Amino acid sequence: MAKFLIPSDGRTAAAVIGDPVMHSLSPTIYNAAFVYDQVNWSYSAVNVTTEQVSDVLQEIRQPGVGGLSVTMPHKETVANLVDETTPHAERLGAVNCVSKNGGTLVGHNTDGKGFIKAIEAETNEGAKGKSCLVIGAGGAAKAVALALGEAGASEVIVSSRNASKSKKAASLAGKVGRSGSLLEAEKVDVIINATPIGMRGTGNEKLLPLPAEAMHKGQIVVDLIYHPLQTEFLKSASRIGARTMNGIGMLIHQAALQYTLWTNKEAPLDVMQAAVIQQISK
Ligand code: NAP
Repeated sequence: MAKFLIPSDGRTAAAVIGDPVMHSLSPTIYNAAFVYDQVNWSYSAVNVTTEQVSDVLQEIRQPGVGGLSVTMPHKETVANLVDETTPHAERLGAVNCVSKNGGTLVGHNTDGKGFIKAIEAETNEGAKGKSCLVIGAGGAAKAVALALGEAGASEVIVSSRNASKSKKAASLAGKVGRSGSLLEAEKVDVIINATPIGMRGTGNEKLLPLPAEAMHKGQIVVDLIYHPLQTEFLKSASRIGARTMNGIGMLIHQAALQYTLWTNKEAPLDVMQAAVIQQISK
């Protein structure tokens, strides 16, 4: 069997698998934390095809491998290959982290909890009792909708260009979830962009997922995008007087949850954040 993960220098291996994955910021984030905490682990980004994923899952059963992060397009494949999934990962049908519990591979999804921790840390309020509009209905939108429902949001409206996907994502929020329209943005407390509109390298960096006029002062406006750190959407929201949050908080907090699952240590959030911002700002 091909070897994907085990480093030759005796350190415990961890990695993110995806396709493509070479531009992943995860090695920067985790290796900064391992060095700071003096944990003898090393983390790499490994490009694997869908056909290779089951071999990787066999490999992480071996001693010397500590854990695995999973990114596109393998989150659903891994959910079907691990021995157990957490209720969150089960409901999403997607795994972004694999931990080892004895001989058992456990699949987690830390995206939604990472989002909630980030919004709590950055707004000092969190989502409880708030009406929220989630724009987009893909993997991130689903994780956020599920987490918002669990965190006690009063309403979770999902709007995307595909009505059936919106409905499915909104259903994850439970009875407070429903599909809706961008026209409802004006009346909500929190607006979340969970589409790639505005992301660097997509050709639509200048576009907004929602017209600026639809936002107002006092709202919390979140862009899950972290590259660039300030999208045109966040710049417009700031000009209007809304409180804004970029995707770095969710990125760091979901990674911190994975770090703790693997090492049983509290993650050095500031170190991880500084490392990733330095990398993005290069
Ligand atoms: P995804 O599964 O591909 O979903 C993307 C969603 O955006 C889908 O609903 C898609 O609609 C919609 N969309 C894409 N292009 C669009 C366009 N031009 N106009 C309207 N809608 C469009 O992607 P994802 O994994 O959910 O990621 C979404 C965003 O969140 C990305 O920017 C990603 O970088 C970010 N993200 C951030 C974090 C973090 O930690 N901060 C974590 C995960 C994701 P269709 O289904 O119709 O194509």
